[in-house]
Amino acid sequence: MHILVSNDDGYLAPGLRALAEAMRPFGEITVVAPEQNCSGASNSLTLTRPLSVRRAENGYLFVNGTPTDCVHIALTGLLERRPDLVVSGINDGQNMGDDTIYSGTVAAAMEGYLFGVPAIAFSVVQKGLEHLDSAALVCAAIVERMRAGALPRPFLLNVNIPDLPYSQLRGLACTRLGKRHPSEPVVQGLSPRGDTIYWVGAAGEAADASPGTDFHATANGQVSITPLQIDLTHTEQLEAVSEWLGQGRL
Ligand code: MN
Repeated sequence: MHILVSNDDGYLAPGLRALAEAMRPFGEITVVAPEQNCSGASNSLTLTRPLSVRRAENGYLFVNGTPTDCVHIALTGLLERRPDLVVSGINDGQNMGDDTIYSGTVAAAMEGYLFGVPAIAFSVVQKGLEHLDSAALVCAAIVERMRAGALPRPFLLNVNIPDLPYSQLRGLACTRLGKRHPSEPVVQGLSPRGDTIYWVGAAGEAADASPGTDFHATANGQVSITPLQIDLTHTEQLEAVSEWLGQGRL
């Protein structure tokens, strides 16, 4: 198996190294990751300048662009052989509920999925990655299971792992995305030169953390696995909008 590994915390992040090492027993590993931390980059592509790819001493390739840039150029010209799987992470912090819209970790995996390659995004719920070894074991266990079992392909899985010792994790749970309250207010201040500046506030607390959600599973010590799709069409509103447009005359 050829596995493309990326992330959004940057090519020096400990979570990336842990994930790459966890994937190594499965075959050939190629790491293509952003040069800088791009958390919150979502699915952005860099279109206003060319991108450079450089090789770090450990063999990782790094790109002066976004997570999506990394996977995009890997799949459209950089790699000689198409990967069988794209994995992203292990992110330092959760990507649950509405986080998935903003997440660069999820976006890197999503780019693989958009090109028809099965993809998995891995995040640890609590910041700090205290039990990174444990999370890496979970990543390997999930890829092992994927190799053994029949999942419809391609798939895009969003995995959130509680930051616990492996023996304290309470299994794998298939979940739906929960929902968050709106973000905390923007933090306002003054720059050293007297300009008003704004720093985007923290994500909101969970609003829907009911049973079945990613929030609920991880709060109970389970590894949350949510299958994602990309189609944003609001299918239930198609009829109402169509009626509202009537004949559609301008
Ligand atoms: Mn991140």
